[in-house]
Amino acid sequence: MKIICDWENCMETGAYKAPIEKDNSKKYRLLCLNHIKIFNKSWNYFENMNDQEIEFFIKSDLTWHKSTKTFGSSDNFFNILWNNALDDKLNIFKSSNFRDFKKTKISQQDKDALQVLELNNEVKWEQIHSKFKELVKKYHPDKNQGNKKFEDKLKMITLAYSQLKKTLGKK
Ligand SMILES: [Zn+2]
Repeated sequence: MKIICDWENCMETGAYKAPIEKDNSKKYRLLCLNHIKIFNKSWNYFENMNDQEIEFFIKSDLTWHKSTKTFGSSDNFFNILWNNALDDKLNIFKSSNFRDFKKTKISQQDKDALQVLELNNEVKWEQIHSKFKELVKKYHPDKNQGNKKFEDKLKMITLAYSQLKKTLGKK
């Protein structure tokens, strides 16, 4: 007897295992080649997201007409992966809503660091980098006759910059 792909309305042979839960359990569904590809794509998409980002995705009006279920149910989580596996649904991450959400994810430490660099919370890394260079020139001891006040300021700027480099410097 042939095993049919578990994807809705698909009648191809299900030859590839798709995990049901995002943990170490052995539960899986069988999918055809086309659908395992789509499944893997969406599965990986969530891999680098933290719980809050996933939760935002789940609760988003763009995802559901109305979300009543709470995050935490792995069944719910799986269904979302499953039902939103198609490309058009995944475009949600490009929506302005989601970008705004990402912005608010800046830690207090990063906010403080940005303040030291005289920047707001919505700058791009390139701006941080060029602002740092600008400030280093401005407060460099060579340009300020070794003024201790400017030296400390430069230290603060350098610390802030390395803090931001850790969190925002690399994608
Ligand atoms: Zn299929």
